Amino acid sequence: MTPSGAARLHPVDSAIDADRAADAVADLLRALGRDLDDEHLADTPRRVVAGLLELLEPQPFAMTSFPNDEGYHDLVLVRGIPFTSLCRHHLLPFRGVAHVGYLPGDRIVGLSKLARVVDWFARDLQVQERLTMQIADHLDVTLAPRGVGVVMTAEHLCMSARGIRAQGAATVTTAFTGEVADDPGIRARFMQAAHEEDTWRTT
Ligand code: ZN
Repeated sequence: MTPSGAARLHPVDSAIDADRAADAVADLLRALGRDLDDEHLADTPRRVVAGLLELLEPQPFAMTSFPNDEGYHDLVLVRGIPFTSLCRHHLLPFRGVAHVGYLPGDRIVGLSKLARVVDWFARDLQVQERLTMQIADHLDVTLAPRGVGVVMTAEHLCMSARGIRAQGAATVTTAFTGEVADDPGIRARFMQAAHEEDTWRTT
């Protein structure tokens, strides 16, 4: 089962053809002057495609939510959700952490689903700005909360390993909706909670 609304928010152009992709990687390696008879390279096209499939195939899940019986009114925030995605412009990975929160309306969501939503949209050829907005939009559509906040921090290999080679540079993107967008006080509390030190941890 896919999360409702995902088809609209996560369009895939067409199904992945793994055999054709492996042939194309073999062609690419030959065009790069590599000898596929080299034992190290012989199975590389298959391995490259297997790796790409892991990065590009979203993992279906059910967007489980529950009635907000107690009328919980304040922020719910899961911070430090790790993600890896693939840059739409260079086909190089970018990876980092997402902080995802919402102000509940009539429903509260299973907490692990916030991490599932991040993973769902990260497995695509992505642009960090688009990824951030898709996560926020999806929570808005499926949960009808009073507001959503998404903050993502990532290192892009297309910027750190090539080009300007700005190693360690972090790209931060944010998406806020509803009361999180409209109320500067709530937004400030969201940012503070997202970046608070983990003083409660014992290990
Ligand atoms: Zn890039």
